[in-house]
Amino acid sequence: MIEELLPDLYRVEIPLPKSPLKALNSYVVKGRDRFLIIDTGMNREECLRPMRSALQKLDIDLDRTDFFITHLHADHSGLVGILATDTSKVYFNRTEASFINFQPSEDYWKKHFVFYGSHGFPEDEMKRVWEGHPGYRYSSRRQINFTAMGEGDEIEVGDYLFRCIETPGHSPGHMCLYEASKKVLVCGDHILFDITPNITHWPQLENSLKHYLTNLEKVYALDVNLVLPGHRNIWNDHRKRITELQEHHRNRLDEALAALEDGEKTAWEVAPYITWDIDCNSWEEFPSVQKFFAVGETIAHLDYLEADGRARKETKNHKVLYSLA
Ligand SMILES: [Zn+2]
Repeated sequence: MIEELLPDLYRVEIPLPKSPLKALNSYVVKGRDRFLIIDTGMNREECLRPMRSALQKLDIDLDRTDFFITHLHADHSGLVGILATDTSKVYFNRTEASFINFQPSEDYWKKHFVFYGSHGFPEDEMKRVWEGHPGYRYSSRRQINFTAMGEGDEIEVGDYLFRCIETPGHSPGHMCLYEASKKVLVCGDHILFDITPNITHWPQLENSLKHYLTNLEKVYALDVNLVLPGHRNIWNDHRKRITELQEHHRNRLDEALAALEDGEKTAWEVAPYITWDIDCNSWEEFPSVQKFFAVGETIAHLDYLEADGRARKETKNHKVLYSLA
């Protein structure tokens, strides 16, 4: 599906089969000499085919196209390795540009899974995660020479002048684009409207939830008329949604604290106490990959509580246990 949102600014919906996210919003901006594609879809045929057909309809020449990737997740970055040509610039936040090219290595994922094991994630479930994790299966497989971007850097294309806004939290270097004169915010997965962004543990970002909440306030201050998120519906009022997201995380923090009331627990044991927006009747029914995302999010909330002085964290027999402070 292609939709013209503003003159020369289009939304292209890229399907994400079997993902609860359903689809990715890729945004295409047409300039006079060059084009810009913001986020791409996963590195798989089911994304590549609709992307190629949309680019053909929009008359986009990839030899004159640059890319901006909001963050490292495979549904946003996966296809860039296939679409980018020798003349393309690939704008990407400095933090993630420093390590994403090494991400698909087996070693990176093994370390990841050992860490989750220390938080109680069972080994048999982990095997199923390994097979179904979108980052492991659908990342870009090509080394990319990124153009690293930082706070305030600008990208000009046609009548649009985008300013980079650093918003770590959902990922270690997540970045939004702001077009001040048109009051447009391209927000990746920093703000989503029909679902809530996953805030998980990152080895590269201590207390990711704290960063996330701080950066919600940062974009709250911007004057915005059109919010363009990475998934689902576009919206006008970012401030109302930010208030809801703040409350959502306060509730999750309360649920995590309540889970610790009858004694110390691993993040794996705390996770079923938290209300998840997923279409399953019980925690046991969650697909393994969704349990993995839920436990990551639980760790982020427990670490926030620890940094805040409301919880304690100890390692006993190679297991990380949280208790009330
Ligand atoms: Zn994401």
